[in-house]
Amino acid sequence: MKDDVLDAGLDRVTAWIRQYFEHPERYRVMPPVRPGEIAASLPAEAPEEGAGIDEILADFERIVVPGTTHWNHPRFFAYFATSAAPAGIAAEALAATLDVKAMLWRTSPAATELEEVTMRWLARLLELPASWTGVVYDTASIAGFTALAAAREALPLQIRELGMTGRDLPVLRVYVTAETHSHVEKAAIALGVGQHNVVRVECDDAYRMRPGALRAAIEADVERGMAPLAVVATVGTTSTTSIDPVRAIAEIAREKSVWLHVDAAYAGTAALIPEFRPMLDGVELADSLVLNPHKWMFVPMDLSVLFLKDEAIVRRAFSLVPEYLTTPEEGVVNYMDYGLQLGRRFRALKLWFVMRHFGVKGIRERLRRHIELAQEFASWVRAQPDWEVMAPHPLSVVCFRYAPPRLDETGRDAINAEILHAANATGEIFLSHTKVDGRYALRLAIGNLRTERDDVEFAWGLLRSEAERLD
Ligand code: PLP
Repeated sequence: MKDDVLDAGLDRVTAWIRQYFEHPERYRVMPPVRPGEIAASLPAEAPEEGAGIDEILADFERIVVPGTTHWNHPRFFAYFATSAAPAGIAAEALAATLDVKAMLWRTSPAATELEEVTMRWLARLLELPASWTGVVYDTASIAGFTALAAAREALPLQIRELGMTGRDLPVLRVYVTAETHSHVEKAAIALGVGQHNVVRVECDDAYRMRPGALRAAIEADVERGMAPLAVVATVGTTSTTSIDPVRAIAEIAREKSVWLHVDAAYAGTAALIPEFRPMLDGVELADSLVLNPHKWMFVPMDLSVLFLKDEAIVRRAFSLVPEYLTTPEEGVVNYMDYGLQLGRRFRALKLWFVMRHFGVKGIRERLRRHIELAQEFASWVRAQPDWEVMAPHPLSVVCFRYAPPRLDETGRDAINAEILHAANATGEIFLSHTKVDGRYALRLAIGNLRTERDDVEFAWGLLRSEAERLD
């Protein structure tokens, strides 16, 4: 049967991708659309008759592209700025073409073994112990949930078999800080730990977990008959990118026999740079580590990597093999055993393409450049009267604000929110905000492959002129 997509549509898509990346900056970073506007421009009913690819692509250009926030835009500085390397996009198209469901080794030997190999590459580059195992998940949230499920399985409570209701169980506790990403609390909800049992350990003045406070919190809980389930240390927190002292935390977790999960979703890839590897010092004492190549390694969304000291615990938590999934091969990895998901995308292909295309050297160069640009931006903020940097900025993110002395704290919060709104509304740049010590902070994140010094200079100029106009 003829298929107009195969005949010509794919070539048109390739041409579209090429021209998109020639000038992603021609779009507004954030589209000027109101909620509901895009849905309203689409038919309420599914089409009864099929349409040609030209017609569908025309609607893609007319409706979807102008309604998109362009993460590939070089002036995207919000959240953790990310971008997709064309090598990763090519791999995504090929993975969709092969369309394997890599749940068993036999349902895609290549997907399984490429994942094993790329995980070993990353583990070696990160100087993890040779006995650790890496597994690919969609996001750090799911990887973190999986790690905490493994931590629960590691406790001698038979929760897998008996559940958590109608029986006498100790209260389980998870230790984080106020800076820890919210997915840990969601995991605690999903795993029956409960939000109230997520303990926020005190931080120092650089937003890092205080090991002494962690020890005291665990000891107080044990004294009360509670059961520490896990500690989560973060390397590169979401607001300020602060780095918890992994070794000191790991030593306490070991001494108390508590699972330590290290969340390096954003910053973990920076540990590929030898001079930044000390961020992970002590990680070999932890139980699990997550990093997101889809955040800062130019791999298209989604690909998160979970490294496990003892992968058998995750299999104990999740493996369940009905008759129709039994398989004759022995000694192979069947990735369905490592989480909730059965069918799995061939994600390792895009990691392999990106790593091969840039090489480790190319990845390191790009990350170093982002870090340099962020440090330079922080120096501009420091040098400008009435502006201040609000937190240490060890990597590629800077929290800062307009803080003229004549405004009180409430006035500063308000004007910074206005500056952000006005600057983003131009469509020229996109920054997001956070709170640092309870105060409104502008947050500039550099992580896009196409961001150059000019783009950062432009953002700084625009923010200053908006501040001047609004003040
Ligand atoms: N952990 C940290 C430190 C993060 O900053 C984020 C997201 O920004 C996550 C976890 C969640 O990542 P994902 O979107 O892959 O679930």
